[in-house]
Amino acid sequence: MSALSAAGLNLIKVDAPPQLSATMSALVQPLPEPEPVEEARRTPEELKAIAAEGNRLLEGAPAEEIARWAAEQFGDRFCVTSSMADAVLAHIVSRVKPGVDVVFLDTGLHFPETYKIRDLVAATLPVNVRSIRPRLTVGQQDGEYGPRLFNRAPDECCFMRKVEPLNRALAGYDAWAAGLRRDESPTRANTPVVGFDPKKGKVKVNPIAAWTQTDVDRYIARWNVPVNELFRKGYTSLGCWPCTRRTKAGEDPRAGRWAMFEKTECGLHL
Ligand code: SF4
Repeated sequence: MSALSAAGLNLIKVDAPPQLSATMSALVQPLPEPEPVEEARRTPEELKAIAAEGNRLLEGAPAEEIARWAAEQFGDRFCVTSSMADAVLAHIVSRVKPGVDVVFLDTGLHFPETYKIRDLVAATLPVNVRSIRPRLTVGQQDGEYGPRLFNRAPDECCFMRKVEPLNRALAGYDAWAAGLRRDESPTRANTPVVGFDPKKGKVKVNPIAAWTQTDVDRYIARWNVPVNELFRKGYTSLGCWPCTRRTKAGEDPRAGRWAMFEKTECGLHL
């Protein structure tokens, strides 16, 4: 008696598989490779509930903790957006999630100093910078809509060069981090640390929402974070060069954006 029989397990003799005739072999086609099964995606309702819970838990938490929560919740379906005014947010998130995607909206109308920071961030931080371009080059837009659309219809210009590209860039993510701060302007005074964007159906994380400019300066000094040199030349908020001017003493930091218009936001954060 074999050891297996002794253990109560009966061996069953299995015949060798029959050989297929040549005709049958021709009829039997190999099965197609199975499609890779995608991880179940969260629905907007689920993401909304996660955002509400995250905001409740994290209000008052340090920026690193907020970023870590987002990285753990969303994994590779979480990215950072950066205007490359400075690299503070990218730096914070890269410390808790090295290799994180950093989305930069390359409107084609940034200051050269801004492109310099983008390249510096890509070269020195453990992040993956993704430069996202509008569907039309500046020249093509001029051809279709007339030159200097930003002077006549900045909302349309921002939509084509920022809002649509951001929507396209975020398609593969459930959540993104932005560098909004409550002290930047009255329109940002109620920024939550974690919110749900119903238009995009995604979670928006604002790790430095509660920071002041002093907090930002302190972080930059402590970690030697790249900063756009235009801040040393009188600018306090940076966007495309046609729509950004230096600010005067006493003005709010975003007063130099679209200064000729009522417009205060490009549409990315509305
Ligand atoms: S900030 Fe000005 S130039 Fe840039 S996309 Fe908006 S309107 Fe156009």
